[in-house]
Amino acid sequence: MTTCKWFAVCPMRRYYEQGKLDQKWIENYCKGDNQNCQRYQMEENGEPHPDYMLPDGSLDESLKKNI
Ligand code: SF4
Repeated sequence: MTTCKWFAVCPMRRYYEQGKLDQKWIENYCKGDNQNCQRYQMEENGEPHPDYMLPDGSLDESLKKNI
């Protein structure tokens, strides 16, 4: 369990610090199973993905409004 290498630049960190994202995402992925994160995998593969896509690959429209 290590902090994800993308954490410093990841929008999930920004949303979390703004109080818009449940801590469970950070615990389970960013400071947990990084490589199981859909964002991580797409980043590794150079695939574009929206800032409001959650680590499980679902899209959170409420975050979209807050970009
Ligand atoms: S959301 Fe995924 S890519 Fe972003 S910091 Fe967390 S584990 Fe890494």
